[in-house]
This record gives sequence, structure tokens and C-alpha cells, in this order.
Amino acid sequence: MQPCLGEQKLIFCVCRDITQRKRAEKELLNAKLEAESANGAKSQFIANMSHELRTPLNPVIGFSDILSSTMFGELNEKQLMYVTHINESGKHLLELINDILKLSKMEAGKMELECEKFSVKEAFDKIVIQIAPMASGKNISITVDNNIQADEIFADKLKFKQIIYNLLSNAIKFTQDDGKVFVTATKNDNKVQISVSDTGIGIPEQRLKDIFTPFTQVDGSNKRIYGGTGLGLSLVRRFVEMHRGNIRVKSEEGKGSTFTFTIADQDSTG
Ligand code: ADP
Repeated sequence: MQPCLGEQKLIFCVCRDITQRKRAEKELLNAKLEAESANGAKSQFIANMSHELRTPLNPVIGFSDILSSTMFGELNEKQLMYVTHINESGKHLLELINDILKLSKMEAGKMELECEKFSVKEAFDKIVIQIAPMASGKNISITVDNNIQADEIFADKLKFKQIIYNLLSNAIKFTQDDGKVFVTATKNDNKVQISVSDTGIGIPEQRLKDIFTPFTQVDGSNKRIYGGTGLGLSLVRRFVEMHRGNIRVKSEEGKGSTFTFTIADQDSTG
């Protein structure tokens, strides 16, 4: 029997050598795993170092507190000045270490929201009391215009207070004596919006995009007159974003700044 050519089937097969692509994918994956492990080691290192640095700082702060209280005898003017410097520097260092630790915890994904229902007004009142000495030292008035009708919110209270504290302390720090600070708070569609405005030195337009980056300060020179670590706003932004919110800033040099953030009531975001 003759083979019937008409019934022959032609099969086309296209082959592509994907060895190169597979190798590149594997290299990419290895690089990612290495980077993750290096990042994990970095976070662990920072956490350990922070602990080791904080332990000796506590007696430095505690004992200089006791000495300056003159509980165990009077100090002369110079002694009091030196002991106050030791105390203030210790506290500054502790603040810096705590901020670095918080930031590295967040980068390592180890920081979570711990939500509870709380009164926004009460949170404000507590922070204003806490910050009042800083404001009165410069004769700066703080006006809180709290319009929130449904005053309660389900969110991370500590982080919420830290956001307000950081914004308010910046507002006071970067405002000249006799200036003004205003805080407004409103609630719409389960979102709380808070603005902190000041009549202070303002921020040059070209620097506005940088100020939320860790360790960035508008005046980063070693002659700068304002203290700080350059970590406050980066923490603020991360805390706000953890609450699925956002933060923006409007500012004019020499006229003042307004920082506005929203956070969602965590009950309603699913
Ligand atoms: P710092 O510890 O320096 O306050 P932040 O991260 O809180 O660090 O702020 C970063 C920088 O943004 C500040 O150093 C300052 O230059 C600028 N800044 C923040 N808030 C204000 C403000 N209310 N008015 C003017 N400048 C501000």
C-alpha cells in the first residue's frame, strides 16, 4: 500500500533557549534573598546596639537628674551648668536612639498597629499639657480648634499621640518667640483630618520634598541653631501610612508652615 501524502501531518515546533533567562531569574532571586538577610542582620544589629546604648544612658540621665535637683547638697553655678548639660545631652541621645530603633523596627516589618477606641480630644489635651512648657518658654500660644463631632476613633493611640507630638514640637521649635501655633481637627467619612500650623520660619519650596526623608534637616550645617535628629517627620509619615492615611505640607519661607494629615478609623477600613 502506497503512503498517502495528503494525510501526512506537519508539526511545527518552535524552541527557544531560556537558559539565560532562567539563570538571570535565579541570580535575581539570590540577590533579593541576600539583600533581605543583610537587612535583617542590620535591623538586629541596630536593635542590639540600641539596647546596649540605652542601658548606660539611664544612670547618666537619672544621676544627673538627682544631682541637679540638689537633693544631696547645693551645687555651685558651674557645677549646676555642667550637670544640666550632661542631663540634656543624655536625654537628646536617648531620643535619637529611640527614634532609630522605631525606624529600624518599622523597616524590619516588626512594628504593628495596636488599635483601641479613644477620644481624640483627650489625646490632644494630654499632648498640649505635655508640650506647654516648651511653648511657654518661647511665649508661643497654642490654639486647638477641635470640631470633631464623633470624638472617638479606633486607631493606635500611642502612634497617634506621637504624630501630634512630633508635629507640635516642630511647630514650636521652628517658630520665633511670641509666635502662634494652631491645631484643627475634623472628622469626615470615618477619616480624621488634623492640621498643625505655625507662624514660624517656614520651609523653602525646593526642600519640601526632602523633609520626610530620615536624617534630613533644612539646615543640616554644623552651625545650625535648631536641635533635632531629622527623624521626627519620617516617623510621622510612616505612622500615618500605617493607618492608611497621608500627610502633606504647605509652607512659605518666613511666613510659616501647615502640616495636614488624615488617618482612617481602623474600624471602617476592613
Ligand atoms: P528634626 O529633628 O530636625 O525636627 P524632623 O524630621 O522632625 O527632624 O524635621 C525635618 C526638618 O524639616 C527639620 O529639621 C526642619 O528643617 C524642617 N521642619 C519640620 N517641621 C518644620 C516646621 N514646622 N517649620 C519649619 N521647618 C520644619
